Amino acid sequence: RQLRLPILAPRVIPSTSSYRSQRALSTLQNRKDTAHTHHPKAHHRHSGEDSFPKDDDIVPWLAKQPRHPLSLADLVKHGRPPLSEEALLNSARFTLSLLPIRLAYRIQALRNLPYIVVSNPNINKIYNNYQHSLSTLLPWQGRTISNLDDEIRFTEVLAELVRTHSETIPILARGFLECRKYISPSEVTRFLDEHLRARIGTRLIAEHHVALHYSSQAHFDPETIPASPNYIGVIDTALRPAAIIDACGSFVADICELKYGVRPEWIIDGEPDTTFAFVPTHLEYIITELLKNAFRATVENGMSRSPIVITIAPEPPSSLHKPVTLPPPPKETLGKFYRDAIAPLDDNAPGVTIRIRDRGGGINPDVLPQIWSYSFTTFSDNPDDPPGAWSDDALSAISAASSGSSSIAGLGYGLPLSRAYAEYFGGGIAVQSLHGWGTDVYLRLKGVGKIR
Ligand code: ADP
Ligand code: MG
Repeated sequence: RQLRLPILAPRVIPSTSSYRSQRALSTLQNRKDTAHTHHPKAHHRHSGEDSFPKDDDIVPWLAKQPRHPLSLADLVKHGRPPLSEEALLNSARFTLSLLPIRLAYRIQALRNLPYIVVSNPNINKIYNNYQHSLSTLLPWQGRTISNLDDEIRFTEVLAELVRTHSETIPILARGFLECRKYISPSEVTRFLDEHLRARIGTRLIAEHHVALHYSSQAHFDPETIPASPNYIGVIDTALRPAAIIDACGSFVADICELKYGVRPEWIIDGEPDTTFAFVPTHLEYIITELLKNAFRATVENGMSRSPIVITIAPEPPSSLHKPVTLPPPPKETLGKFYRDAIAPLDDNAPGVTIRIRDRGGGINPDVLPQIWSYSFTTFSDNPDDPPGAWSDDALSAISAASSGSSSIAGLGYGLPLSRAYAEYFGGGIAVQSLHGWGTDVYLRLKGVGKIR
């Protein structure tokens, strides 16, 4: 069956005619000339306010600056909220010192894609989002965030940045689908793996300051309800995985009921009362994707009556010296390129391993090597579709994701992106398939460590 979506001809003119995209485009067209030029003023950047490069294309200059390797210690160094005014200003300044360089690296990586790919309207939209976000931060460069008014306006810029990039995944998925004639699946996976890992970190940095800001408001404005005392920014220091599993389980069961008319059940065993310090939104993402896979396989295998069994096993600090051995990620994703990841606060932090066991029939050994590739999926209503081909289901999964809802499967981003989230704090995901029977997925998470 042929894919219905037309392959779009390379575009020279972007679909929107705003100044922003015009400028982005002229930058794109000049990228060969500018990509390797060093900004002449770069050497003087410490000598005062006007020495910061101000010309149109600051990206190559910024993308040459060293990236600060983020550690959890960075995220908690400003203390527990409510933060003092000085600590909040310091957090804002620190956030500002990280973001423009990170955005510039992403812009540069997008520019390095084949021209025909970055000219695709969807990829170009993401490119413009990055250019736009960078342009909202640049006015803050070279000045200090010196009072709470500044900090409030800066926090608004951060919140806008987070919003601008919230729909990235379905847009990129559609863009790379449309460009699949021009770029190989392994190149796409390589780009996306780096890009989406970096995106995790950038969003974490921005959302963390926004969260610190709101949980510190109580300090300045007694009317505001104080945030949960367990939270430091986006980190929940007493996160209970069982609560997240139940919430995500109901959500995924709803999707299943809509799609298949059945509601698989799940059981949590092991030690459901385990808590550890982690970022709840990351755990929610991973658990939702893993449960979708387990539920879908269970239903499609006609085993809806066999509950999915989720075992929560806390890992005492000492066991981390003999870690659960996880098979290494596929070679093509190892070490060849920069991987954004965060250094733990404490190598001995207690972690947790969550095993999700389904009776969904396992994974065909033929497709097993591909499950970690972005956009690989076996989801299709049409039995004639060859495995791994893009079907109408893929397109409807993209549409669902774009409209903010969620489909049971089809994007093929669930496993690779979940692994990126797990690895971000030093954990991992391993899939053990018993073909003809079911699948065990081991999600190992390293807690973020002791936070005083
Ligand atoms: P998607 O779910 O959108 O297809 P994923 O990356 O989540 O993308 O999964 C990729 C493929 O891996 C699935 O299409 C499916 O073939 C296989 N898979 C993942 N988890 C399971 C599971 N628990 N049981 C059977 N197959 C699975
Ligand atoms: Mg999936």
